[in-house]
Amino acid sequence: METHPSLAVKWSCPDLTIYAGEVTIGEEDRNKMDSKKRKLEKTRITEAACALLNSGGGLIAMQMTNKSEHPVEMGQDLEKSLRELIMSPNMQAFFETKQQEDQFYIFVKSWSCRPEDGSTKPRICSLGSSLYCRSITSKVAMDSREAFEFLKDKKACIKYRPTDDGAPPAKIPRAMCQNSLESNPAFEIFQSKKLEYGQCLLFSESTSIEFKQFSTKHVQAYMKNIIPEYISAFANTQGGYLFIGVDDKRIILGCPKDNVDRDSLKTVANETISKVPVFHFCSSKDKDKVSYETRVIDVFQEGNLYGYLCVIKVEPFCCAVFSEAPISWMVDKEKGVYRLNTEEWVRMMVDFGPEASSKDLSKDFECQLSLCNSPPHCRPVYSKKGLQHKVDLQQRLFQVSPDCLKYTPESLWKELCSQHKRLKGLVKQQIRSFSCGLLILYRSWAVDLNLKEKQEVICDALLIAQNSPPILYTILGEQDEQGQDYCNHTAFTLKQKLVNTGGYTGRVCVMTKVLCLSSQNNIETNGGSVSPINYPSSYNLANIQEMQDLLQALVIVLLNFRSFLSDQLGCEILNLLTAQQYEILSKSLRKTRELFVHGLPGSGKTIIAMKIMEKIRNTFHCETDSILYICENQPLRDFIR
Ligand SMILES: [Zn+2]
Repeated sequence: METHPSLAVKWSCPDLTIYAGEVTIGEEDRNKMDSKKRKLEKTRITEAACALLNSGGGLIAMQMTNKSEHPVEMGQDLEKSLRELIMSPNMQAFFETKQQEDQFYIFVKSWSCRPEDGSTKPRICSLGSSLYCRSITSKVAMDSREAFEFLKDKKACIKYRPTDDGAPPAKIPRAMCQNSLESNPAFEIFQSKKLEYGQCLLFSESTSIEFKQFSTKHVQAYMKNIIPEYISAFANTQGGYLFIGVDDKRIILGCPKDNVDRDSLKTVANETISKVPVFHFCSSKDKDKVSYETRVIDVFQEGNLYGYLCVIKVEPFCCAVFSEAPISWMVDKEKGVYRLNTEEWVRMMVDFGPEASSKDLSKDFECQLSLCNSPPHCRPVYSKKGLQHKVDLQQRLFQVSPDCLKYTPESLWKELCSQHKRLKGLVKQQIRSFSCGLLILYRSWAVDLNLKEKQEVICDALLIAQNSPPILYTILGEQDEQGQDYCNHTAFTLKQKLVNTGGYTGRVCVMTKVLCLSSQNNIETNGGSVSPINYPSSYNLANIQEMQDLLQALVIVLLNFRSFLSDQLGCEILNLLTAQQYEILSKSLRKTRELFVHGLPGSGKTIIAMKIMEKIRNTFHCETDSILYICENQPLRDFIR
């Protein structure tokens, strides 16, 4: 794990925000820059964009080094780099920019494939795959999409290869190809003890043969630099020979002995190859690295030792060989912006969920959220056939109708209004300009998002309205310094979950606003603005369809639980509670001290108990070991633990 040295996450914002430092913006000013500095900036912005695309979307904030009175475009080099990242010319599908005085913002939507390209595009974005292959006489770097196809083929190929003869599947092709490497004309040279300076080889470069010659004195640095890419290319294709010390015209020149000694040549080659990352889909242990052999052959000139020819014979690999760890970034609460390691990267790239492998699942379950067109962190969601679909659940719990702004649950709204005299007027004033939507009330949204409750909060209200972004109002009795932080943190978590759990693929940011019952002038103190950064209007919910899509994501966020089938399938999948189960859970724990749930086996009592324990922990701020759970058998006890 490698944390990014110069990208900082601002955790206090309601949206995932990366501060990318000072940047020169605009084509004209960027063209005047020192090219090295320009490239560094471009890489930093692209890495920030990559991290956000892969982590549910967010905001890149930059301080412009060049003051500009007029709005400026980003700059061609930055645009090109971002286009490559999303593998599409359609930049506006994921990015929007805005200049606010000397601040420049790039709004990034979460990465997800569209349903029609779900099988052709990878699940995450990357700056580079570090995977290579041979194309006749060239070594070619695979772009993200090619890497995805390559990995997908490898994975499928391993899965369907028969293994019932007991032999590890990897050995079969390896043995076959070994013979082909030995029948290669290069094999004779590979076995030579000595060669003559200036001798012309009788074979040319091919898919399995590459000649390299160098004039540098820094032999070791040169080798460390070129070897990994060739090893990856040969191993991922059909194997082959890398000759170091032969020029393009097939003439043996060798490395002069004055520049390097025999042993270090071999050591550098072997050490470099040992560091090359590999990934196995097959049953081989991870320690099974690339098979290769390095030979250093003496090159003589007129009877005297002149130097050495280094030949590396690389065997084809069962799975995938990289030149270095792939270049892709993510954001994590603990690590900040961090670079994925090879294993994490491959698993994210080719995560297809259980669809392909499990026929039983499709027999009894219905897919509610598929991995093929959802954001990178989503888990697939299934519900038992015959139970309510997420659309039905949304209609029942969070129904929206045209030209109507509703409060839900109505009973809670009435109760809160009767307890707090000023509440009704205060809320009405806030939402008076909206005519279509839903105000969803909770005693505390935080508890339902598995965050700790803040006692001073009277209620949280989430507004989902047409022509507005979602807005989270936190209503306090008294002014509270931490009120805004609480509201931001809850909104942040909600947005993350709507995308990364609920699978919402539209643009979304939950705006925040703290209201205070005791204060006379809420709106004035907050300046009437819900967020210090003005989000583009594309972040508004444009119509009922978008509102429903968002509310269906919300249904998944609130009703999901880890399926008991996950272990059996070897892949985490989520199920949904029924509306009835959810209504039981929605009861206030402070008011409902006793609850008797009676149901047949398999009706979901255990899952309700688990969810309630989670709520107890968050509402009463208690440790796990201060909650007593009693059940009738040991397996259940162990499961709950
Ligand atoms: Zn393998």
